[in-house]
Amino acid sequence: MTPFDFHVPTRLVFGAGTIDRLGTLARELGFARPLLVSDGGLEEAGHVDRALGLLRGAGLAVEVFDDFDVNPDAAMVERGVAFARARRPDSVIGLGGGSSLDCAKGINLLLTNDGAMADYRGYGHAHKPLLPMIAVPTTAGTGSEAQSYAVIADAETHMKMACGDPQLAFRVAVLDPDLTLSQPAAVTAAGGFDAIAHAVETAVTKRRTAISTLFSREAFRLLNAKYERVLDHPDDVAARGAMQLGAFYAGVAIEQSMLGAAHACANPL
Ligand SMILES: [Zn+2]
Repeated sequence: MTPFDFHVPTRLVFGAGTIDRLGTLARELGFARPLLVSDGGLEEAGHVDRALGLLRGAGLAVEVFDDFDVNPDAAMVERGVAFARARRPDSVIGLGGGSSLDCAKGINLLLTNDGAMADYRGYGHAHKPLLPMIAVPTTAGTGSEAQSYAVIADAETHMKMACGDPQLAFRVAVLDPDLTLSQPAAVTAAGGFDAIAHAVETAVTKRRTAISTLFSREAFRLLNAKYERVLDHPDDVAARGAMQLGAFYAGVAIEQSMLGAAHACANPL
């Protein structure tokens, strides 16, 4: 049997309506001036205003950074760092899809540890403490909320760089399936397929362990059962919740075993 060392550093808060706990959770962690990192597209869905209302209602002085796109690159992260430096946040909240969560991680890394994104390619290159972070995913797919990696593209070559560090794990992940109802159909389809690929690749990779297999299997069971359902009935909150949990579990499996051939091909492509 493959030996393993298993620890989930992220507290998981799951359920419809759990977004309402965001302000309280941030206060519990001692946040006073969080930086909210959220892609601009989400403002339309009303998620950003809702999060701002909850955080301000809990007495927090929050600033929003939203000047980045899907597949954030190092230049976008650097813009976020410049924005954050002027405002001196004490914490970071990522709200949105994998791009928002990864961008939040990248900004935190460079804000606290300096240097360039490329310096952190690989694992464990942060030498100074990072700011504590909360993840609020609005899609079900990447599982970034369960992982200590940020995938950031090189601004010139567009090559994706996987930058990992134990401190990049979120302190809390708030999984509220209501927030995923606003996903466009194409995002539901692609994100769900990505999560299924994570479940399959973590299950077959040689680095799998007894515990990663547990999460891969449960992720596959949930995702396989509800993938078509969320495409045909996008308002089915229970099915959305199963997809969200499945994506999270697959992310936990990735932390243990990493991925397989399909993702290995995808990054250089
Ligand atoms: Zn993936």
